[in-house]
Amino acid sequence: MLISQKIYSFFVFKSSHDFCHHVLSENNAYYTGLRLSCQKKFRIKTLYFLNNIDFDSDRNFKVEKSMKILIASAFAQITFGLKKDKLKVFKLINITPAPYSYSHSDLIFNGDTNFATKTINLCWPVVKAGFEVSDNALNLAIHEFGHAIILEDSRKNLRYRRALNVKAFSRWKHFALIKLEKIRAKKNVVLRDYGGTNIMELFSVCLEAFFENSHQFHEKETNLYNSIVELLKQDLRNKQSPLL
Ligand SMILES: [Zn+2]
Repeated sequence: MLISQKIYSFFVFKSSHDFCHHVLSENNAYYTGLRLSCQKKFRIKTLYFLNNIDFDSDRNFKVEKSMKILIASAFAQITFGLKKDKLKVFKLINITPAPYSYSHSDLIFNGDTNFATKTINLCWPVVKAGFEVSDNALNLAIHEFGHAIILEDSRKNLRYRRALNVKAFSRWKHFALIKLEKIRAKKNVVLRDYGGTNIMELFSVCLEAFFENSHQFHEKETNLYNSIVELLKQDLRNKQSPLL
């Protein structure tokens, strides 16, 4: 655990732990699979992230604390084995009650990670469904946080530590480029074809499958799966204690 989180953990009220535990026990399969000692560490990671991000929404749509906790838990999942504990560029998560579009386009979005506005936009019903069905490799919050982490790591003149080890990321990229060709050649198994869009989308699609379909992912695309294990420093085939 990072020093910042250790210090923070002394100030977390038992009631916050209890409410976080209640929300995650009911809604997050990754959390419920963890052994108790890991669950406590995971709650600190989730609450620390929550403490360092802002939420916004339409005036007529209230974002409940439980919704924020669940969204924050997706970030905690991805970074549980990493030293990254908050986002540095994306400081606002905007929650919408329904899919949305931008004024200059007809495209409908469930979510997007907008570098121009430094905002992550998430459609709540789709976020919720992502956690409700935990074995279909579809999780919008995981997907968008995957984009945010990659985007932050790829900035020039970084004044902060990268979340992902450079060598591990280039190993992942090596196998990801092979996979990209497979998807485009329609020889894809295990990952969503949407991952064939580009390397950025493939990363997020890989994360969704890593967390929600780990055994099949490992079986069908062992090298790619193992490269994510190395990258995130966790192996989801050991659900009680995934950290390496
Ligand atoms: Zn995407």
